[in-house]
Amino acid sequence: MSPLADVFERIELPERMKAARLYGIRDIHLDTVPIPQPGPGEVLLKMAAVGVCGSDVHYYLDGGIGDAMVTDPIVMGHEPSGRVVEVGDGVKQVSRGQLVAIEPAMPCGTCELCLTGHPNLCPHVRFLGTPPIDGVFSEYAVMPAENCLPLPDGMTPIEGALLEPLGVAIHTVDLSHLRVGQSVVVLGAGPIGLLIAAVARAAGAGQIIMTEPIPERSAFALDYVADVVLHPYEQDVVKEVMKITRGRGVDIAFEAAGAPETPQQGAEMLRPGGTLVLCGIPQGEDKLVLTASTARRKGLTIKMVRRMKFVYARGIRMVQRKQLDLQSLATHTFSLTQTPQAFEIVSTYQDGVIRAMIVMASNESSQGALL
Ligand SMILES: [Zn+2]
Ligand SMILES: [Zn+2]
Repeated sequence: MSPLADVFERIELPERMKAARLYGIRDIHLDTVPIPQPGPGEVLLKMAAVGVCGSDVHYYLDGGIGDAMVTDPIVMGHEPSGRVVEVGDGVKQVSRGQLVAIEPAMPCGTCELCLTGHPNLCPHVRFLGTPPIDGVFSEYAVMPAENCLPLPDGMTPIEGALLEPLGVAIHTVDLSHLRVGQSVVVLGAGPIGLLIAAVARAAGAGQIIMTEPIPERSAFALDYVADVVLHPYEQDVVKEVMKITRGRGVDIAFEAAGAPETPQQGAEMLRPGGTLVLCGIPQGEDKLVLTASTARRKGLTIKMVRRMKFVYARGIRMVQRKQLDLQSLATHTFSLTQTPQAFEIVSTYQDGVIRAMIVMASNESSQGALL
């Protein structure tokens, strides 16, 4: 038995836990709820760190995304790391005491899309923090063991949690078929935009131009990965990209802002035959705005990003080999009881926030040495 497993052997689990639940628009309560029990093939996790994602914020501000509306109180949160504290029958992949990243999607595994290599498109998928499935802004959670990926020594709970948005970025760059030396634009320097740019850099992008209106994010992007960051309200960003590329346009445009005008800007910045990859979730109205002739005359390839697939092992290797830096994206940390404040800061883009993380306070105090 490993020393960690020994420590967990001696911990008496409480029966109830705190969970941050969304009741309606801008209305999060800290509730006390029973700790779930792992069934066969499942594990009980003590959450370590959970990121506050832009999609959580959509639920928080709009009460839903598209037709996925919050009707009953729900625990959001789908970017977690945690420690295995109990294993159900038949679990072989992980053992007690292990720190794991948690893949939030639970595809059915048997439908046509699952069987043909597209589990991210499974129509029967269950996904953490998406109605009616509870997420992990809670002290404990039960997950299938196969969703838990043990983290190598030296990787932090925050890095483990950030493997989720990194996974989205890896999948996004996969869809673009980026080739070494190609030029790219990333519209939006939020966490996903920054990670897309960092993955594109690691994949050999030749030039990376970003657009971003928030000054702190723009400065962060320049420091983190971008060659140039343009201001979409103070500059004509399309003209600027054309100037930088001497009238040619870029090879690939990644839209990661979710603003009404950014898909069209991306299309206009591309060279003929370029690729537009749409990753952002539109704010407000559930519409994608693109002028047909721009895309048609250039013969653009347009790709839509739906979550991710087959990315975790690669993400772990990239972080291990320092091909990109995850930890610095976690600009703000909050305890579970501070979840409402975390959402206010993230949804109003205050204080230069990139990614806010909920780091479990009880974990810090009782298991500080293990973190
Ligand atoms: Zn997310
Ligand atoms: Zn399926």
